[in-house]
Amino acid sequence: MPLLLIDKQACIGCGACVDVCPFGALDLVEGVAVVNENCTACSACIEVCPTNALSLPEKPAADLETQAYQGVWVWVEQFNGQASSISWEMMGQGRILADQLGTPLTACVLGYRVQKVAEQAIAYGADRVFLADHPTLHVYRTDPYARILVKLAREYKPEIFLLGASSRGRDLAGSVATHLYTGLTADCTGLEIDPETRLLRQTRPAYGGNIMATILTPRHRPQMATVRHRVFEAPPPDPKRQGQIVPVPVTLTEEDLVTKVVDFIVEAEEVNLADARIIVAGGRGVGGPEGFEPLRELAHVLGGAVGASRAAVDAGWIPYAHQVGQTGRTVRPDLYIACGISGAIQHRAGMSTSRVIVAINKDPEAPIFDLATYGIVGDLFEVVPALTEQFRKKLKQ
Ligand SMILES: Cc1cc2nc3c(=O)[nH]c(=O)nc-3n(C[C@H](O)[C@H](O)[C@H](O)COP(=O)(O)OP(=O)(O)OC[C@H]3O[C@@H](n4cnc5c(N)ncnc54)[C@H](O)[C@@H]3O)c2cc1C
Repeated sequence: MPLLLIDKQACIGCGACVDVCPFGALDLVEGVAVVNENCTACSACIEVCPTNALSLPEKPAADLETQAYQGVWVWVEQFNGQASSISWEMMGQGRILADQLGTPLTACVLGYRVQKVAEQAIAYGADRVFLADHPTLHVYRTDPYARILVKLAREYKPEIFLLGASSRGRDLAGSVATHLYTGLTADCTGLEIDPETRLLRQTRPAYGGNIMATILTPRHRPQMATVRHRVFEAPPPDPKRQGQIVPVPVTLTEEDLVTKVVDFIVEAEEVNLADARIIVAGGRGVGGPEGFEPLRELAHVLGGAVGASRAAVDAGWIPYAHQVGQTGRTVRPDLYIACGISGAIQHRAGMSTSRVIVAINKDPEAPIFDLATYGIVGDLFEVVPALTEQFRKKLKQ
């Protein structure tokens, strides 16, 4: 159902809305604007209409009939046909929630030549998979991905819709939630069903990780959440599981799309903080770019990645891709070793839920020690090489 309201008396047929609509959702018919199913309520047309003939309904229909919404959905993120591990973690939790609600679990697989990913989604717990397989979906773009998911959600009305809190997942979730007029809880660290109300309890850190907030979406559907990496365990796949793959027709062409992918530039130093189980992070205390060398060595011996505080990144000692914190990456490794990092609230926001935190700092009063599981008061240039040596010996045995 198109969302836009058109006041036919006020419309002067100037066509400004038709020209500006990024989704081809408006036409002029007999001198009056007419909206079609492609409307996503983006409101671009409302802003250009010289006579205020266009508007959106104040109260969306989704506010009214929460009972009509059924099922748990998970977006399965993939790149070049390889599903990302966060997708299977989401499927695992999606399965638990769906079983508690007594409702099916649906996976949404979008991409090009991704039949295999759809089959894997069933092995990881999906009862049904919506498979949109089309060349325009080969690389992730917000516009076509959001359009397809919004259309499916409007038609099939899921009760809960989960996405991984990866860069793409956060981007897509925001777009889909906006178009569906529903709430979205980003970066959750816990999801459970309230047995009395059947509402999804969405828990996430707030105020820089100092409190945990539990958020409900009582009046809108779907209840949408993104979940941080490695919050949930991926279940073991069961290749014998049976499920239904529902092909989704995609009629998009490149001409319909606003964004074009020009090129991919691979970063010189690949950093995958999100997947790392061990992170050795350095702050201003490392003293310069060369100060990261002992940290790299320790990370290498432990099979981990190197992180950094913003102070080190701003100083130009290490690229931004390594930054952990409020304006950097959010990580949750098994082990986070903070070297020469004071523990500012903005840094904690990105790492406070790590399973074990080891802080190495020469100031015994450094706030990082309040958070650390284990604290070592000392000079990182003595402590880190000593740890590297010991781990090298132990891990060789
Ligand atoms: C809006 C906003 C967003 C921000 N986002 C982020 C973010 O995403 N991530 C982030 O990290 N920060 C962020 N910050 C900055 C944050 O407030 C801090 O300034 C920053 O985290 C400090 O980095 P640091 O701990 O490395 O440096 P410092 O606070 O200067 O701490 C250095 C520490 O190293 C110790 N030290 C020095 N030499 C040694 C040695 N040889 N051995 C052992 N210890 C030593 C010192 O005792 C000290 O505790 C943000 C700030 C703002 C305002």
